Amino acid sequence: MKGVFTMSTTRYAPPTSADVLRLKAALSGRLIQPGDADYDRARAVWNGMIDRRPALIARCQCVTDVIETVNFAREHGLAVSVRGGGHNVAGSAIVEDGVVIDLSEMANVYVDPVARIARVEGGARLRDVDRATQRYGLVVPAGVVSDTGIGGLTLGGGTGWLSRKYGLTIDNLISASVVTADGRLLKASATENPDLFWGIRGGGGGLGVVTSFEFRLHPLGPEVMAGAVFYRGEDAPDVLRRYRQYIASAPDEVGSLVSQGRFPADEMFPAELHGQRFVFVAACYAGETGEGERIVQPLRELAEPVLDLSGVIPFTTLQSFWDEEYPAGELRYYWRAMYLDDLDDAAFDRLVRLIDEAPSPLATLDFGQMGGAAGRVGVHETAYAHRDAAYMLYVEANWADPQDDAANIAWAKRVVTEMQAFSDGGQAPSFPGFFEEREKLFGANYRRLQELKARFDPANLFRS
Ligand SMILES: Cc1cc2nc3c(=O)[nH]c(=O)nc-3n(C[C@H](O)[C@H](O)[C@H](O)COP(=O)(O)OP(=O)(O)OC[C@H]3O[C@@H](n4cnc5c(N)ncnc54)[C@H](O)[C@@H]3O)c2cc1C
Repeated sequence: MKGVFTMSTTRYAPPTSADVLRLKAALSGRLIQPGDADYDRARAVWNGMIDRRPALIARCQCVTDVIETVNFAREHGLAVSVRGGGHNVAGSAIVEDGVVIDLSEMANVYVDPVARIARVEGGARLRDVDRATQRYGLVVPAGVVSDTGIGGLTLGGGTGWLSRKYGLTIDNLISASVVTADGRLLKASATENPDLFWGIRGGGGGLGVVTSFEFRLHPLGPEVMAGAVFYRGEDAPDVLRRYRQYIASAPDEVGSLVSQGRFPADEMFPAELHGQRFVFVAACYAGETGEGERIVQPLRELAEPVLDLSGVIPFTTLQSFWDEEYPAGELRYYWRAMYLDDLDDAAFDRLVRLIDEAPSPLATLDFGQMGGAAGRVGVHETAYAHRDAAYMLYVEANWADPQDDAANIAWAKRVVTEMQAFSDGGQAPSFPGFFEEREKLFGANYRRLQELKARFDPANLFRS
């Protein structure tokens, strides 16, 4: 096996073939290696740019599998990455030459509808969670794309339609089971290992492997009023300003997003608009649908719509609305997210110019309103530092041709630089680019997170 493994230090003996066979025998799930028929599929993630070759991929089926794999990697000095839904734009689920703990087969969701609690295994995707909870008209406040893993999303904070009404995903986390670098299974909650509990709520995934999360559930749906309106790019000045006026007094039940990009060559849009700029306004009303129709109506009248798909729909349908836009493995992605204090007219004008300058017609610049319940939690209460931001801006460079990598990444970085004028500099852990500005993701909580990392993972086992 020599040459396949990267050693973290020279103190460790690389695993022999016999060591690997012993690990294989100890696992209930499969151990996938280079040369296996499904190796390439198992190392592929959502971002088509990521092409890393791990030495081992452990498809864990239970907590014991996770512990065995962590112990094996630690004893042999190998780097570990954890794969939840495989959706992180940086591809951090896959470590070059190291060991991947792949949780995709640990995706069960157990719902107690009376206590309104769900226990969710660490490899579940949002669609698994929504399917199980919506059966009872309940929900875990999470993200807006059903393919996203609950693991990485929760560890990064978790924003979505319901953040203003019910808080971030982490604000609804009661406890988690975590396998730490020393191979122990710890419970993290407000009363047990509270430091670890603080760190996993927004601090990213470097403190251990979360084998299951316990969430508080809220009533929702199963149908909700959803707004989904396309306007012409030339109407952007009116649409953006009227949207800003609307959200200034919108209730916490309204979660909304505004996206700017280019109309695709799709028959649902008039042919003369293909390739032209659009402004898309989307919303979800977290409450009674009749009231939702009334409250969402003004978002449908910000200008003359090109296409209005709004209506009362199952929440699970809303959650898969964007799935096709972001196909796994087919496109190349570089995404950043930053917090904005204000969106004045100058910020709007800049966003319109920047989307015009995007090298790829697939790029979008989206922003959503923060605040509400998510903003009423203190900056130091969890590791998620940016509670006081008014808006989050999502910079999404999406393209197909590897030759266009440099131009698209440079554009996204330029957007971040140019929009600094409207920001306190904070960035969001959910869309970290390739972790170029790690400290900005954690702001005022960065130092405490570093201390926790040194305590729970002193050898930096989870360094992906
Ligand atoms: C199309 C798309 C839409 C998105 N929408 C939203 C949104 O609405 N709201 C939002 O907040 N974010 C959103 N995100 C960002 C998303 O939350 C992050 O990319 C997140 O890291 C994805 O989690 P994952 O489990 O799929 O990722 P993976 O790539 O599997 O994992 C990313 C990292 O998370 C850690 N990790 C994952 N699972 C575990 C676990 N069980 N235990 C320990 N560590 C773990 C690991 O460190 C891993 O390196 C979106 C991303 C995409 C691509």
